[in-house]
Amino acid sequence: MFGLMQDRQLLISGVIRHAARNHAHAEIVSKNVDGSIHRYGYRDLEARARRLARVLARLGLTPEDRCGTLAWNGYRHLELYYGVSGGGLICHTINPRLAPEDIAYIVNDAGDKIVFADITFAPLLAIVAPMVTASVRAIVFLCTPAEMPSLDLPPGMDLLCYESLMDGSDEDYAWPEFDERTAASLCYTSGTTGRPKGVLYSHRSTILHAMSTMPADVFGLSARDRVMPVVPMFHVNAWGCPYAVPMAGGTLIMPGRHLDGTSLTALINQEGVTMSAGVPTIWMGLLNHLRASGERIDSVRRLGVGGSACPRVIMQAFQEEYGVTIVHAWGMSETSPVASANMMTPDSLALEGETYWRMRDKQGQALFGVEMKIVGDGGVELPWDGVAQGDLLVRGPWIASAYWGHAPGSACDDDGWFATGDVSTIDPDGRMEITDRSKDVIKSGGEWISSITLENIAVSHPDVQEAAIIAAHHPKWDERPLLLVVPRKGHDIVPEEILKIYDGKVAKWWLPDAVIVVDELPHTATGKLHKLSLRQMYRNYLVS
Ligand code: AMP
Repeated sequence: MFGLMQDRQLLISGVIRHAARNHAHAEIVSKNVDGSIHRYGYRDLEARARRLARVLARLGLTPEDRCGTLAWNGYRHLELYYGVSGGGLICHTINPRLAPEDIAYIVNDAGDKIVFADITFAPLLAIVAPMVTASVRAIVFLCTPAEMPSLDLPPGMDLLCYESLMDGSDEDYAWPEFDERTAASLCYTSGTTGRPKGVLYSHRSTILHAMSTMPADVFGLSARDRVMPVVPMFHVNAWGCPYAVPMAGGTLIMPGRHLDGTSLTALINQEGVTMSAGVPTIWMGLLNHLRASGERIDSVRRLGVGGSACPRVIMQAFQEEYGVTIVHAWGMSETSPVASANMMTPDSLALEGETYWRMRDKQGQALFGVEMKIVGDGGVELPWDGVAQGDLLVRGPWIASAYWGHAPGSACDDDGWFATGDVSTIDPDGRMEITDRSKDVIKSGGEWISSITLENIAVSHPDVQEAAIIAAHHPKWDERPLLLVVPRKGHDIVPEEILKIYDGKVAKWWLPDAVIVVDELPHTATGKLHKLSLRQMYRNYLVS
């Protein structure tokens, strides 16, 4: 017998309708490409998203068509999130930091019919446009007619102005009702090995994911919050903030393109930001700026951190020096992305010193709706004892079942488990800790060494700006850890001194065999260490 409750569909248009009706007080504050500030409320956003849905129909687009976006965090990008998906089309966010060839590959693979772009990306589109003629019919710049850049496009591809299209349209549009499992947005993985792969989110997965990030122990969102997603809208839908914040009725502060410590501090203080989310490098930049300038960010209560392991020095400094709680979360494009967060239980709050911070290092408990397990050789499930390390598997309603263009279910096993490619432990409290990517793990004499643990310790050294640990071939032990360090500005690094930081923190056999001082480390388009290229450069360092 089914329950006798209404079977209303969970649709993205429902989020913006809700915010427009119930939270007209809240704002969307955007830093424009030219540095000016734009403000309006959820009613304006909802009306403009309807207007945009009309524009899309007039351009001849129909449900399931893909619209690419190359844009910073701002109100027009948000209008695309709602206008495109709300109308039953697919919003395909593209990472502009990728190489032009990768962008062209992604646009062609997705079959984008139109690409909406901020004017800053005109030079990039000049390179990409000739490579995407098979699918793209028009480039629409997100600007007014006066701001339109000139761009020579291949025959058959139109150059259009967003605000002209909007002016020529109207809001006479009713959001369509359809199955909540309909595709809503598409985001490609960064593809550090092989070609990028598309992850196709549905309306249902997007809404369930956003709701799961709202509780107090995750992003803790309220109608009083002023949330600044620093994580780009082209990086896994800005971790769901553009949906979760309107659901809660909070204000969204969109920082645009300048994400350095000085710009972020100014915007935080000007707009009274209470919560933000981003990758560790962003918070390191903010911390360095705050320490150097003596400025404060007293309105901020919490910062969500994920994308790579958050070094303890960042968590500790924000908490102890600035009264800001760091929420250490884990996820990936395939998990929408937030799947776990380190939640404070009464027991964990009672911990002190090193034991407390060891607990805080972890990526935390699964959000309700996500199941996790770790498996060893042959897929045997490993105990949750905080010691056994294995491949991390997840399943749940906002976990990918297949990649774009592949058969449903093809990315998971028969029981729906998706192999994340991460290696982790899970402790008896359910706190998961990522120890490595499976391809980054170091196997020394058959035993595993965690590169993340060694990197976190290295960056706690006052002279170290950034650190990477990679596996180097070793004649006796197969692989041994190699430490690459970037010195902090104005500091010199003595390799033997750096190694002393490991004393008493890890077993002696975990100590890196060599320390290499470099000016900078390579990063992927989403700001993660590009370990593949480091391995290619240094894998024979200990044998040659
Ligand atoms: P992406 O799909 O580009 O978001 O990358 C996902 C990958 O980033 C995960 O599989 C992890 O390897 C890594 N990652 C994300 N969050 C964390 C975290 N808090 N700690 C360690 N690694 C993380």
